[in-house]
Amino acid sequence: MAAARSAAIPVVPLSASPSGVPLAGKVGFLEDPEGTLVIADIRSSAVDQRFSIPPGAVQQDGLDDHARWFKIRIRQTEPAGEWLIDSSNTALRTFDVYGPYSDNGAMLAPPSKQGFAQAAGGRWLNSDRFNFRFALAQPGDYTIYIRATSVFSEYYSFTAWEPVQFGHAEQRRSMFNGICYGLFIGMIFYNLMLLWIFDESLYFYNFLSCLFALLTLSGINGHLGHYVLHNHTALIPIVLGASPALWIAFAGMFGRGFLELQKFAPKLNVCMLALMPLASVAVALAFCGQFSASLALTQLLSVAGPLLMFAGAIIALRRGFTPAAWYITGIFTLFLAAICTTLNNNGIIQFPFHYEALQIGSLFEIIIFIIALGSRIRGIRRQNGELGKRAKQLTKTARTDPLTGLLNRAGWAHYAARTLDRGGSAALLLIDLDKFKPVNDQHGHAAGDQVLKLVAERLQAEVGAQGVVARLGGDEFVILLADAPDSKVLALQAGKLIDLISLPVPYEGHALSVSASIGIACVPQDGADLSMLMHAADRAMYDIKENGRAGHAFACTAAS
Ligand code: GH3
Ligand code: MG
Repeated sequence: MAAARSAAIPVVPLSASPSGVPLAGKVGFLEDPEGTLVIADIRSSAVDQRFSIPPGAVQQDGLDDHARWFKIRIRQTEPAGEWLIDSSNTALRTFDVYGPYSDNGAMLAPPSKQGFAQAAGGRWLNSDRFNFRFALAQPGDYTIYIRATSVFSEYYSFTAWEPVQFGHAEQRRSMFNGICYGLFIGMIFYNLMLLWIFDESLYFYNFLSCLFALLTLSGINGHLGHYVLHNHTALIPIVLGASPALWIAFAGMFGRGFLELQKFAPKLNVCMLALMPLASVAVALAFCGQFSASLALTQLLSVAGPLLMFAGAIIALRRGFTPAAWYITGIFTLFLAAICTTLNNNGIIQFPFHYEALQIGSLFEIIIFIIALGSRIRGIRRQNGELGKRAKQLTKTARTDPLTGLLNRAGWAHYAARTLDRGGSAALLLIDLDKFKPVNDQHGHAAGDQVLKLVAERLQAEVGAQGVVARLGGDEFVILLADAPDSKVLALQAGKLIDLISLPVPYEGHALSVSASIGIACVPQDGADLSMLMHAADRAMYDIKENGRAGHAFACTAAS
């Protein structure tokens, strides 16, 4: 209980303010733990002296089912007026209003009984919250008594309104709530879509977190009780008790996955997981009607969960996981909203949207989390892109001969198989340099390399786009010509290739010289698949080697 000051309850002048006339700090309060006092006792001078005036909203320690009496003194200056006292509370079991009493003790309206204990929960103006509307036919000072019981409210704060202004404010609130619920519903579907696309459990947890956030907020706002559970009011406190714990639990599980705590902060990850059984206990307690214990546990979770996630996000950020920055901003927004609500409820600040502070906080958190998820997905895409590039590079390297830059045997097999699969005519020219070994022996390996490189360049320049040149290994090259010309033209081309290969290769003042033997196999005459063609060309090439080198032979005319 907040510190109370014992003084006369001030009379609050009523006015048609667009934001209502706040009564916090001006309301008499009396706790009736046994719930035995009736209005006649309350109005007796002995009990009247026991009213105190808490400085801000009336805050109770834990949850209980004590009756709480509030005494409100108001002044009407106009000749006549209609007014409304709003409880700002959606979860009252009983909300009984006595009065208004005129200063001469006359009771001007019959008692009004609202709250979940009433059959229809009766609310004025169809509001989500419990309130009391009354008319005053004369100027003067009046007193209203409210007796409230709740198994689920920690705070009581009242506002006096002119009913039309209250209606306007309700409309604004409804629009705000609609936008808020819309965003949560959007987020629920967004996460389901992400779950469908990426099949990652963190999206499932975020989906559940948003679902329970929606249940919590619509429960606090009264919409859940008003529209969904109006025939099952006993469920309202259970949902109000269980939803926040589940919201926190699944938000934590989402955070674990999002921040990759297992990788970045394994110890925090274990701590976070340890909170889950606590959340289950909070839910179980709510289902057993132990709301006070459930709420205490939920409050513990609501501090411990975000603190752990905050620490985890800092660690992940320091390890270079940049989306954690968005996550921190999101948590911080909700944290700020929770601080504002607490400060407001304790009368330390007067926050203009105090009913909505938590909702505004969660709204911002959700928008920031949308950005955070986007940033994470961008990171994954970038990583995938880099991996793809790297894989391409590796494949290219694996298929390239490092000395000449031509395709190597693996690259050649891949390319040739694809070309041959397309069908049509083709010719395969297998080239082995003649007397290459002596170049190595006389001038060194580097000289031999120089010859290989230059031969490769010359072959490549000659073949160009007509086909592909590869080095199979050693001094052996191969050319595949798609859409091969007839054998006469092929023979001329082979002759030209030998001339090019035979051109001197300058090396350290020497003119190195080799020639080449070429075996030619054609599709379809010599086969259709690569191994048959290679075998045929090899046979033809060795035919030339045996018959003096520096020439070409067709497989179909070569001696077998
Ligand atoms: P032939 O006329 O019968 O073809 O005989 P050759 O002297 O050309 O010798 P052969 O084709 O049997 O052997 C090729 C030689 O090429 C064997 C090896 O020492 C050499 N060699 C293999 N790879 C490389 C390489 O990367 N660089 C150099 N410089 N020499 C290589
Ligand atoms: Mg050779």
